Amino acid sequence: MREIVHLQCGQCGNQIASKFWEVVSDEHGIDPSGHYHGTSSLQLERINVYYNEGQGVSTSGSVCVTLDNRLFILIVHLGQQYVPRAVLVDLEPGTMDAVRASPYGHLFRPDNFVFGHSGAGNNWATGHYTEGAELIESVMDVVRKEAEACDCLQGFQLTHSLGGGTGSGMGTLLLSKIREEFPDRIMNTFSVFPSPKVSDTVVEPYNATLSLHQLVENTDETYCIDNEALYDICFRTLKLTTPSYSDLNHLVSSAMSGVTTCLRFPGQLNADLRKLAVNMVPFPRLHFFMSGFAPLTSRSLQDYRTLNVSDLTQQMFSSQNMMTACDPRHGRYLTVATIFRGQVSMREIDEQIMNIQSKNSSYFVEWIPNNIKTAVCDIPPRGLKLSATFIGNSTAIQEIFKRISEQFTAMFRRKAFLFRYTGEGMDEMEFTEAESNMNDLISEYQQYQDATIEDGDGEIEQENND
Ligand code: GDP
Repeated sequence: MREIVHLQCGQCGNQIASKFWEVVSDEHGIDPSGHYHGTSSLQLERINVYYNEGQGVSTSGSVCVTLDNRLFILIVHLGQQYVPRAVLVDLEPGTMDAVRASPYGHLFRPDNFVFGHSGAGNNWATGHYTEGAELIESVMDVVRKEAEACDCLQGFQLTHSLGGGTGSGMGTLLLSKIREEFPDRIMNTFSVFPSPKVSDTVVEPYNATLSLHQLVENTDETYCIDNEALYDICFRTLKLTTPSYSDLNHLVSSAMSGVTTCLRFPGQLNADLRKLAVNMVPFPRLHFFMSGFAPLTSRSLQDYRTLNVSDLTQQMFSSQNMMTACDPRHGRYLTVATIFRGQVSMREIDEQIMNIQSKNSSYFVEWIPNNIKTAVCDIPPRGLKLSATFIGNSTAIQEIFKRISEQFTAMFRRKAFLFRYTGEGMDEMEFTEAESNMNDLISEYQQYQDATIEDGDGEIEQENND
């Protein structure tokens, strides 16, 4: 089995992951006590990717045995229990208490809750260098234990926000520690980008830029989940006038369930984190993905219109369905993966995807042929007959980096709030390096956006002549 160790760090990281585990457990027929009550063997076939199996005591049912002609009735039997392979981390206890008290809170292994009491006060330096550094060894002890118990670990996934102190500062410290200890395992993150539409903490661009500096080096795949886009979807499409975090997280959980479908259910394409990286990441630093989902539904209201493959394809490629506030038409796709769920015909999907690609060929780099991959899973998400999930590696992602970079530079030019970071022992130089790393990343995306097939011709010919 190719197991994944999941980590959730900070308030946002714990809140989005808590929702993820609810949705995924439900999809695999796992109830809040960890027992299986599903309907299809497909639900259990790859359950070990995300869950450990243990023996829990179940009091339901009885077993009769005879021994020496005497009848024994055993009224207690051992039931299989499934426990998320999750490590829950925070620098304050509040959010984790809430996770523990939530409907699926008892699913988690109690020893895997690791928390401090000080908080990070939205300061990346506190999470990365002071309070977070003090707690990191206790977290690594749990991570090591989970990793060692795996048969064949494929990698790690982390959920966190980039705008606060714990998920961003300590979350990225965790990434670097794991990379050091498990250099050949894949690291995947679900990283929530800050937006002033959702949060009013002014230093978020600092925290996000310092985090990105780390993500560029220490992850293989990062899903850029943008609170600005989530807010816009809630407000414009779902007509929610004052969206709450629960509303935003409902969207996040649809996307997370969608993009992990191929890891969780049997199938061929992008079946593990490494295969996904091989297909999606043509250059190591350019591993920041946009994701999209169709049909969009709100937490309280499901959309009961049944959409066909053509509608779903149109919607999932639309900028309005993207969970990153970047318009794909402002860039070009390096690679794309799509996942359809439900009873659909592969032929119809192939036709629709071919149609999209041929009508929009200028939005796909021509120097990576066949750069859309498609997977199908028979099991739809709860409440829907059909759904489609989109993963795109688009050069338009530079728009989100430009947005953060502008906000960062405006403050950094005047060194506003810097004393809070230097007060925790940080050097101003790290800010300058993070800023230039982000600007380099933007230029690299631009360079590949402008590249044409002819640019490379000379080089290819030369290589062939050698
Ligand atoms: P931490 O606990 O120190 O890591 O801080 P937070 O996770 O609260 O980080 C603050 C950032 O995360 C801000 O940009 C918030 O808008 C965002 N955030 C906090 N909670 C949630 C959540 O449940 N969902 C989403 N989508 N964003 C959140």
